[in-house]
Amino acid sequence: MAEHRSLSEVHSTVAFPESWRFPRRLTALFLLGALVFTTGCTIRRDDGTEASVPGDLSGRKIRVVATIGMIAEMVEQVGGERVEVKGLMGPGVDPHLYKASEGDVIRMAAADVVVYNGLHLEGKMSEIFERMRNRIRTVAVTDGIDREKLLRPPEFEGAYDPHVWFDVTLWMDAVKTVERALTGMDPAHGGLYRANGTKYLERLEQLDRHVRRKASIVPPRKRVLITAHDAFNYFGRAYGFQVSGLQGISTVAEAGAADIQALARLIVENEIPAVFVESSVPPRYIEALKEAVEAKGFRVKIGGSLFSDAMGDPGTPEGTYIGMVRHNIDTIVSALAGPRPAGTGSFPEGSGNDVR
Ligand SMILES: [Zn+2]
Repeated sequence: MAEHRSLSEVHSTVAFPESWRFPRRLTALFLLGALVFTTGCTIRRDDGTEASVPGDLSGRKIRVVATIGMIAEMVEQVGGERVEVKGLMGPGVDPHLYKASEGDVIRMAAADVVVYNGLHLEGKMSEIFERMRNRIRTVAVTDGIDREKLLRPPEFEGAYDPHVWFDVTLWMDAVKTVERALTGMDPAHGGLYRANGTKYLERLEQLDRHVRRKASIVPPRKRVLITAHDAFNYFGRAYGFQVSGLQGISTVAEAGAADIQALARLIVENEIPAVFVESSVPPRYIEALKEAVEAKGFRVKIGGSLFSDAMGDPGTPEGTYIGMVRHNIDTIVSALAGPRPAGTGSFPEGSGNDVR
């Protein structure tokens, strides 16, 4: 398992300090204004506000900036050769803590559309999105999801849980939002976006069936998923797992000693065999939990590393959304299902191997 750099290490060289220095801020805002001014025209939004956006896009590729990798990939899947996508947050990066660099602001200013998750996932970027809203087209992929389907955990003080991608059916709604947005910007190629979208949705439908099938291998009383932060509530609801994270919904909150003791008790009482680390969260909390469990005389293993808020390295199976979801369910099932059935070399698997 590769060592994960903490976010502050990743961004110490590029992020703006909390008090954005005036001249840099001015430069970035000037660039933002100038780029839009020279290329834009005005549209009226649904809410009556106006925004400047580029005119006819049918003759060139649409320049897209996306925040998390899962969204960058989604736009590529739907947009095909019509889009040129720049993803801001790479493998191992925590979107809750990510601050836009000067380069990011310039890239966003030059884009035809900025696509992000929304629901405050990109917590430190919301101010920039707000400021850009009236100048550049922005699309939150979660906007099309029925609010009734969203979770509103008490730890998040009335706000929605943003980690919708681990209920594959909700992520399918996000695909439809991207399909509509691209068609709206470039109606001449609407047929292509619909065809690409439909193809991707079929693969995601297969993926959803695959996760369900795998989850059913774990005996119901062992379906307890304990991870570093609360990224898996939608996963738990969709596929029947009880989920506990050491940190709250956002990694901004620190896990306290009381949380660790309470989870340690839950693990010992239910004889939960494994807990999991995450690729975009430092593993120290889960390691502290493992120690607390062992102090109570029970052995719990680290069941593996799950991808939560970022995908794996490009070029690896986990570097795609479908690959990361498959990796997670395979890791969870291997660690929680208990001894393999006698006489079989592996867990029973359906015909889901065509999903990748
Ligand atoms: Zn998260």
